[in-house]
Amino acid sequence: MSALPVRFEGEPLTIDLHMHSTASDGALPPAEVVALCRARGLTHMALTDHDTMDGIAEAQAAASREGIRLIPGTELSTQWRGINIHVVGLLPDGPQGDLVAGLAAQAQARERRSLKIAERLEKVGLSDALARAREQAGSPRPLGRPDFARALVAAGLVPDIGTAFKKHLGNGKAGDIKAHWPFLSRVVAWILDAGGVAVLAHPLRHGLTRRKRGLLLDDFAAAGGQAAELVSGFQNPDLTRDLARQLQERGLFGSVGSDFHFPGGHLAPGSMSPVPRTATPPVWTHPRLVGIAAADAA
Ligand code: AMP
Ligand code: MN
Ligand code: MN
Ligand code: MN
Repeated sequence: MSALPVRFEGEPLTIDLHMHSTASDGALPPAEVVALCRARGLTHMALTDHDTMDGIAEAQAAASREGIRLIPGTELSTQWRGINIHVVGLLPDGPQGDLVAGLAAQAQARERRSLKIAERLEKVGLSDALARAREQAGSPRPLGRPDFARALVAAGLVPDIGTAFKKHLGNGKAGDIKAHWPFLSRVVAWILDAGGVAVLAHPLRHGLTRRKRGLLLDDFAAAGGQAAELVSGFQNPDLTRDLARQLQERGLFGSVGSDFHFPGGHLAPGSMSPVPRTATPPVWTHPRLVGIAAADAA
């Protein structure tokens, strides 16, 4: 297994620290995500399902078989100034400390939120919304907005998933319920208490101005957050360079991830824009991750 570079120097990377499986809204079971990562030549990966670590044991077993290094992770839903902000926890020691109760609370929040979303969607014509979303999920895992989006499509109320989000589930729409999520700072504290690294997910994907993104990074760093995703999937290289400066100013590490959910789309494990040469240090050089990320670690 090749070692990871200790600086971003414009080289292609063999690591992906943001991906989903059937433990949340991904299409592939954890073991198949791992196998696909291996097939695509990755040496290091994190599985980061929404608000759960239920897929980690299966992924870890597969990673040992496939000879790929897995960092246990999760992507936690939070709220910050009325915006739904995601925080990836990279958790070399798995769930422990305050994070254990935190994950249980997230599952409950998701449950209560799905009742509310169902109520809202029934008002726009989706009868039995909860049962329909459950049918789309196809397993007892906690429901997400994509399950409701698919239910809206299946009922013929919208032509496609994109329209379902645009009209009913996206930012500011009736089915976008944020009130159940804990504040950003609280979630960062859970991750720190578990011995992990808190990574602000896809900071360019919220439509924030540069100034407001700076405020988000300030609050995140003040709460103890250590890193942010410098590259998430495909993004504009000028924005990446600018984001690198914003991380550097705050002493944050840089992470990378595809945010892979399903095969056949424009993203696969490891597919993302290149990271330009930058002084922002890679997140795998953080003291809490050095052991697990090293090629020759046990
Ligand atoms: P939730 O975690 O239940 O709040 O749902 C958020 C998830 O919905 C994201 O992680 C994406 O997987 C998916 N999603 C968000 N916006 C869109 C969109 N416009 N089109 C398709 N999927 C989306
Ligand atoms: Mn998702
Ligand atoms: Mn996300
Ligand atoms: Mn994600």
